[in-house]
Amino acid sequence: MTYIGRFAPSPTGPLHRGSLVAAMASFLDARAHHGHWLVRIEDIDEPRCSPAAAEDILATLAAFGMHWDGEVVWQSRRKPLYAAAFARLAPWVYPCGCTRREIADSRIGIAADGAAVYPGTCRHGLAAGKAARAFRLRVPDAGAAMDVITFEDRWMGTVSQQLATEVGDFVLKRADGFWAYQLAVVVDDADQGVTHVVRGADLLDSTPRQIYLQRLLGLPTPLYMHVPVLTNAAGEKLSKQTGAMALDVKVPLAELMAAARFLGLEVGAPQSVALFWQQAVAAWKVRHR
Ligand code: GLU
Repeated sequence: MTYIGRFAPSPTGPLHRGSLVAAMASFLDARAHHGHWLVRIEDIDEPRCSPAAAEDILATLAAFGMHWDGEVVWQSRRKPLYAAAFARLAPWVYPCGCTRREIADSRIGIAADGAAVYPGTCRHGLAAGKAARAFRLRVPDAGAAMDVITFEDRWMGTVSQQLATEVGDFVLKRADGFWAYQLAVVVDDADQGVTHVVRGADLLDSTPRQIYLQRLLGLPTPLYMHVPVLTNAAGEKLSKQTGAMALDVKVPLAELMAAARFLGLEVGAPQSVALFWQQAVAAWKVRHR
């Protein structure tokens, strides 16, 4: 079987304990399948990303023994691909002049990721006096074909989402002119031939949008696995803001062992990073094949 997996970090800061778990899961799944493991730097949100953070992430992956196949791909260098996909989506795209505040105030619903469901204000044309800010993709009305996107997640089981009521028409091109993550990730996964996406469950809510875009663009849908995300005692996703997430790069083996334990893997007491990976791949195979 051809297996192509990938790790796709956003270089907004160094690799931290949460992102190590996602990186490890995708790396182990690729190695357990004798597949390729690609690294793609998702620096499309340029105001929030930095080349230094990207280099830091790559250095940490290498120091932790996570060696990628082929060249690293940078989203910031692939904009013509996103523009071409956007052009093909033109029949479903419309300009939107709403501000974040106006959408939040409409209160028609809150999506699972905390954003307000877009109420469709500009669906039938920009309201008088409004200038185009972002470009949105029209999702099927509730009850129409493809209104509910369902997929089998390899970790989470069956996942369903009704785009109209749970997400609303979503942004492909942002008000600041940058391409949205949802568009770039779909284009890149297809362009790179990715067959298996393994990533954190914080992205589970995005997957139905990505599958819908794949269908509109006539692209294949990879298999998905969303692994649990590290949370603090209050159940909040651990990120740089909540602290305690910095990796101690001086002790790779200890950090790797902790991430493996979080993923529920039975790894003995390896004496080196290389031995850790041997044991972790074997343990992953026991659980996930
Ligand atoms: N760049 C995204 C992130 O760091 C991950 C995208 C993905 O794995 O699809 O959260």
